[in-house]
Amino acid sequence: MPLSIWIDIAVQAPAHSQVGGLLTYRSPVPVHPGQLVRVPFGQREVLGVVWAIRDSAPVGMPASHVRDVLGVLEGLPPLDASWRQLVQFSAQYYQRALGEVALSALPPQLRDLTSEQLARRLKKQTERTVHTALGPALSPEQITVLDQMANGHGPFLLFGSTGSGKTEVYLQAVERMLATDPQAQALLMVPEINLTPQLEERVQTRFGADAVVSMHSGMTPAQRLKGWLAAHAGQARIVLGTRMAIFASMPHLKLIVVDEEHDPSYKQQEGARYSARDLAVYRGRLHNAPVLLASATPSLESWHLSRPASADDPGGRYQRLLMPSRIGTGLLPKVRRVDMNKQPRRAVLSTQLVAAIQERVERGEQCMLLLNRRGYAPVLHCADCGWKSECKHCSAFRVFHKIDRTLRCHHCGLTERVPRACPECGNADIAPIGRGTEQLEEHLGELLAHVLRPDGTPARIARIDADSTRLKGALENQLAQVHSGEVDVLVGTQMIAKGHDFRRITLVAAVNPDTALFSSDFRAPERLFALLMQAAGRAGRDAAQSATSEMWVQTFHPTHALFEALKKHDYPAFAASELAQRTAADLPPISHQALLRADARTQEAAQALLNAARETLEAQLSADPQTTDLVLQVSVYPAVPMSMQRVADVERAQMLLESPNRMALQKMLWHLHNVLHQVRSLPEHKSVIRWLVDVDPQAI
Ligand code: ADP
Ligand code: ZN
Ligand code: ZN
Repeated sequence: MPLSIWIDIAVQAPAHSQVGGLLTYRSPVPVHPGQLVRVPFGQREVLGVVWAIRDSAPVGMPASHVRDVLGVLEGLPPLDASWRQLVQFSAQYYQRALGEVALSALPPQLRDLTSEQLARRLKKQTERTVHTALGPALSPEQITVLDQMANGHGPFLLFGSTGSGKTEVYLQAVERMLATDPQAQALLMVPEINLTPQLEERVQTRFGADAVVSMHSGMTPAQRLKGWLAAHAGQARIVLGTRMAIFASMPHLKLIVVDEEHDPSYKQQEGARYSARDLAVYRGRLHNAPVLLASATPSLESWHLSRPASADDPGGRYQRLLMPSRIGTGLLPKVRRVDMNKQPRRAVLSTQLVAAIQERVERGEQCMLLLNRRGYAPVLHCADCGWKSECKHCSAFRVFHKIDRTLRCHHCGLTERVPRACPECGNADIAPIGRGTEQLEEHLGELLAHVLRPDGTPARIARIDADSTRLKGALENQLAQVHSGEVDVLVGTQMIAKGHDFRRITLVAAVNPDTALFSSDFRAPERLFALLMQAAGRAGRDAAQSATSEMWVQTFHPTHALFEALKKHDYPAFAASELAQRTAADLPPISHQALLRADARTQEAAQALLNAARETLEAQLSADPQTTDLVLQVSVYPAVPMSMQRVADVERAQMLLESPNRMALQKMLWHLHNVLHQVRSLPEHKSVIRWLVDVDPQAI
């Protein structure tokens, strides 16, 4: 028998089968950690990553059960130790199988390639060169910030107004790094590339299209593989990507930037529910690379972590960098609150706002109206019998879409034609309640029917939301129309508030932002404030028009502290008052949370699993003197229905774990994991469909 080596390999095993687990194989040829191999798995042949070489077989594993590696993917340098450490940490921290995290971090096409096919791809990869185009002369604030970065360690939180030149700062930081280190690579992360094509263009123009690769879910498998290979080989000097890019293999990574670091899309919402922002900080430490988080409205987590030291507080471990001024003479728009209590009942748009829109359209300027609800109306209602357009599969109403006269469930997708009469009592007069973007568009069309643009043509209205952009390329087309000035008034959901550099928009209005003020989700005000600040930042990006640009807020609570802070563009004041409330209520970022969720056919069954796990966990931990402390450090709350309790006929329940101590919470989750495996296999919990853990959840 030839000499053979025992190796532990990460493969994509079904979720939860072996968290943290690796499979052991033997290899007739020498292999190295980080190499990609093909191995037998059940009846199939799958891709695996060599994780460790062992001295001997695992205890209790008969040699006859160990299978041989089928082949090594030649020509690829191994994935380096930092990459493997990042994956291992993510799997542990977010409670997923190592193999699952490792394999989903690789481009899907890699799974199907033979060594020959790979060799052909690699041959096509050419040398990539960097050309740096000259940037503008820096402002004094930008110079200071770059100096602070050069002399500090980070992680840095760059807090600067929209248009203060934050992007320029990190482009300069990249430029300096590229100039001093001929191999160095930079990772630039953005929330959504499709929404900010200008940034992609700006980075490419600056450094040459050759030096930059993009990574996001809108790319074809072939494009993803190509970009991944270029980054892995060190040829691509800059990776520009969405959250998935945090796992890009970059052997010479020397700088990480997370733009709009507060954006919720950095948190993955399925599989391993990782936060790419938090992993960026971890990865920076692994590579000894500075990490720059940037935002005009930082997450309260990062704000808190960058708090300055005081007499009784050593301060946070992030360094806060400030850029309060907008570039040039650009002013931030004036914020105007409209008290909707003084408007006619059921008014959608106040008379003042309509007048202001008309005035701007007649001057040839653009307006943007935000309403966070797509469709025509969120519910249809029969006044006679009380029927409402509930979804029969979900605890939600089906939304009325007038365009194709359908009722659509936004959760399970159930779509039916609108009934002619009430399905319960036959009343022909069923009416929409509330309003969505479709209705707002229609309503505006009526209000502005007589309004003319400077060239004498009628005002043009467009709507951008998830419905209007379903087709490939639709969003790009619609955005181009706004940019070219074909559109005068743009109506949309929050999709339009982020990042776009619309030069001619001088008025932005939030039509009905109040719901977020009283939401059961404690992060709703934080998200609303960020959205409104972002939206305000869309207005007056041209210095010439910034003096007349305005942000309008229609509200029944005009004196609410959130709107007071918005009026002054005062994020620190808002953050201070929010943090005081979070501290009083022991909520994040003061405490740390995790959610355990169970899905089942009935709510009782879902809750029963969670409560059984909770009781078993507490009994086990209390019985062992080594773990009694943990029970005191981590609160485990009883199971409750999720706020969206039923989706597609599946009942969902959740259980909250909370602790001031992150390590304690992590330990608790590990015990909980073992307990869940025990409890789940009991016959009384057979009807549970699945369970999952969300660490640092975005919403509870
Ligand atoms: P932010 O990322 O903070 O919104 P940007 O970096 O995009 O700000 O800058 C806003 C605008 O100002 C951009 O058009 C940018 O090209 C320009 N800009 C940035 N820095 C300078 C500078 N030092 N001199 C002149 N223009 C600048
Ligand atoms: Zn009825
Ligand atoms: Zn549904």
